[in-house]
Parts: sequence; C-alpha cells; structure tokens
Amino acid sequence: MKIFVNNLLPPRGFLAINLFGVLFVRKLYVSRVNRRVITHERIHTAQMIETLFVFFYLLYLLEWVYWLVRRLFDRSINPYLSISFEREAYSNDTDTSYLKRRKLFSAWRYYFHWAGVR
Ligand SMILES: [Zn+2]
Repeated sequence: MKIFVNNLLPPRGFLAINLFGVLFVRKLYVSRVNRRVITHERIHTAQMIETLFVFFYLLYLLEWVYWLVRRLFDRSINPYLSISFEREAYSNDTDTSYLKRRKLFSAWRYYFHWAGVR
C-alpha cells in the first residue's frame, strides 16, 4: 500500500484517509500508523476495488447518512462505526491473514446489521 505522509490530508484530527487505495497520513500522526491501521486500510482498498471505487464512496456516504438519521432515534448508534465497510474493516483488522481468505463482497454480510461494532 502506498503511504503518502503530508501536512494537509486528512483533515486535522484524523489519522489517515484512504483515497483510491493510496493512504494519506498526517505527518503529526505517522507514528500511530501500525500494522492494524494498514490492514484496516487494505480491507477498505479491497472493498473499493470490488465496488469499482465510485460505488464504495457512494455507498459509504449513503450508509453514513442512513446511520445519522437512525441516531436521531437511538443515541447509542455511532454512525461512522455502523457503516458496513467499517464494520468489516474493524472486525478483521487485527487478523493479518484476513485479506488472503476474504471472499468477494464480504462487506455485504455487515449491511444493516444492527449489532456489532459501535
Ligand atoms: Zn475504516
């Protein structure tokens, strides 16, 4: 995975952002990029490739808005952590061999699943 250390991306307060398979890391946080972060972002890259990139960002945004609305009725919901792509990544980012055995479109198993990572 290409890692681009810089002072602009992601916005202040965020550790890293994966744009089209390239990881942008704020210089300030570069020491926090560990194996788990890399595995997490590689899972996102796999999700991006299988959704032709554009659908990853579209689905990600739509689902985030969906969870934001749900949060109006249930304050225990964390919209970011409820996104299916994040659920798959957070559930498997400590397993470095996950990507080797990951099946195509594995994030779909996490879609609109109420329980799990919050
Ligand atoms: Zn993530």
